[in-house]
Amino acid sequence: MLSQLHILLTYTCPFECDHCFVYSSPYAEGTFTAPRLHEALDQAQDVPTIDWIYFEGGESFLFYPLLIEGVRSARERGFEVGIVTSGYFGATEEDAELWLKPLADLGISDLSVSDDAFHHGESSDNPAQKTKRVAERLGIPTDTITIDPPAAVGAPGQGRGEPVAGGSVMFRGRAVDRLAQGLAGRQWQTLTECPYEELEDPTRIHLDPYGHVQLCQGISIGNVWDTPIRKLMERYRAADHPICGPLVEGGPHELASVHGFDPEDRYVDECHLCFETRRSLLHRFPDELAPRQVYGVV
Ligand code: SF4
Repeated sequence: MLSQLHILLTYTCPFECDHCFVYSSPYAEGTFTAPRLHEALDQAQDVPTIDWIYFEGGESFLFYPLLIEGVRSARERGFEVGIVTSGYFGATEEDAELWLKPLADLGISDLSVSDDAFHHGESSDNPAQKTKRVAERLGIPTDTITIDPPAAVGAPGQGRGEPVAGGSVMFRGRAVDRLAQGLAGRQWQTLTECPYEELEDPTRIHLDPYGHVQLCQGISIGNVWDTPIRKLMERYRAADHPICGPLVEGGPHELASVHGFDPEDRYVDECHLCFETRRSLLHRFPDELAPRQVYGVV
């Protein structure tokens, strides 16, 4: 049952992390406008099972007035609100408080802060840690997202259908191009299950500034600027979707087999084979594999 809408407020980010799922960077384009943000929240309100709105990116704090307006509008509509951030703005605790106090006053229910070497290097008291300390002082429930450097094979990621909360790098997006080399470890025929997403009955969806509703980064089930979220979800059947159908049936192995992808012998994990297969299919399924930029293709 769909309960969470994750709004990718922008693809732009001050960082260009090697493990980023959506190829964010300072140069990545695509940011919500205020009218589109309100429209998305109106659509979410029309789906009675959605009770959480997450704002993420990219880095949603880069467009601070838009973030504040999104949180205010979501709270006004009765949603619980979470935000994912790198906490890059927390140069000092006084700075962090300046940015977080208005959000605390609006009553956000979760602040997930990325604190790892990908974002902040090895420094011991980095902006993420200052941001987290201030959030706790302001009474904002806070989590830390720490992604470990790549492990060779089989390190756990998030639970199925859950937001990424830590663990090892998963090989989607830029991680495939920057981190996979030299790590490949499992035979492609053994990658027979999608380990992380509820593709048959999604509990969360990601909505980007272009209107794409994504079940996993770059797997779209439609565009909300053409068809509202409620209708898209009513209409969605995994078995009828050319990407989700095979993934449900037999994981990335089935996806590659059904669409005639010519695989290497080994891949780091399920996501690695899935992502490489999908990237080879961009020209065949432009609506279902969108947006192209999360595949590193501009
Ligand atoms: S196997 Fe594919 S659909 Fe499943 S989580 Fe990995 S990249 Fe996403």
